[in-house]
Amino acid sequence: MAVRIPPDVRGLMRPSAAALEPYDPAFSPARINLSANENTYGMPAEVRAEVSEALAAVATNRYPYPLSDELRAELALWHGVTPGQVCVGNGGDELLFNLLLAFGGAGHALVSCPPTFSVYRLYAELLETPVMDVPRDAETFVPDVDGLVEAARTARLVFVTSPNNPTGDLVPAGCIERLCEACPGIVLADEAYIEFAGEGTSVEGLLAAYPNLVVLHTLSKAFCLAGARIGYVLGNPSIIAALQAVRQPYSVNVLSQAAALTVVRNREAFEPIIGRIVSERGRLSTALAALPDVRVWPSSANFLCVRLPGAHEARARLRDEFSILVRDFSQAPGLADCLRITVGMPQENDAVIDSLSVITGR
Ligand code: PMP
Repeated sequence: MAVRIPPDVRGLMRPSAAALEPYDPAFSPARINLSANENTYGMPAEVRAEVSEALAAVATNRYPYPLSDELRAELALWHGVTPGQVCVGNGGDELLFNLLLAFGGAGHALVSCPPTFSVYRLYAELLETPVMDVPRDAETFVPDVDGLVEAARTARLVFVTSPNNPTGDLVPAGCIERLCEACPGIVLADEAYIEFAGEGTSVEGLLAAYPNLVVLHTLSKAFCLAGARIGYVLGNPSIIAALQAVRQPYSVNVLSQAAALTVVRNREAFEPIIGRIVSERGRLSTALAALPDVRVWPSSANFLCVRLPGAHEARARLRDEFSILVRDFSQAPGLADCLRITVGMPQENDAVIDSLSVITGR
């Protein structure tokens, strides 16, 4: 639970910070945690062992490589770009912040497409960046591409999330192309969940054609490193240089760099787990959609957006009676009665299906 800031302290704060409500994912201990879109399967045992070995060899008395040199060389090889086209951050979150730090500010609008990842607005407000919202369709959550393109014409930044959090839908590459053509500033495709969307869904292939496109990735989801905090942006070297100009010198620590390097070198070992999450997503989706008055949106990510009557109470019952934690969006704008449920291991998904069957009276 976030501590309330008393008025005398608020009065001392930077005005844009004083106005903020702190990001609060409402974590609490639970037997089954499906609230944060983590990979609940954990790392393959052989990769885990290699990560432990790599960590044991790390010299923590030395500062890390400021630009995560070895890691970014490995990421560049993976994605078929040059190291100068890669910027590594302390989670994707840091890179989102740094994009707004470098390019946002008063008069430099960010175009966003809600409902989407709430951190965009949080950082924009903190960094005094005006937000132009182009809402998705209230029922289908499909983005208003024409509206986005129109707004992009006067924007400094456009953030498009694909697959989107929390609605799960993939944005077509054609939309990103149109945005890159229209926007005089920078278009970010946030692909934090792209590994769950299948082959050929990333817009990375457009980087060569559009110098104002950047693509965000994270190792927090498919690659089991949420706790190590490693994200990266791919883009043209000039934008990457701007991101480097605003970064904190040593934000990505030596242990995380070593763990990430091992994970990236062993990335193929994660494919079976990703495949299992994708097939469990189908099974969970079908089972939940069969419950009375429950709607499940199609998802290309490792979570489902689920609407059910009395979602707020249902979420509390899941936590208190069944010790299952899911994310409550029922009070968020545009997401009335919606929960976001991470796709877990089969037994975790069974527990969600069984307990929601009880709650919905099936
Ligand atoms: N983008 C989206 C859409 C996300 O959902 C998240 C994580 N919740 C991130 C970026 C950032 O992830 P991380 O900081 O763990 O890399």
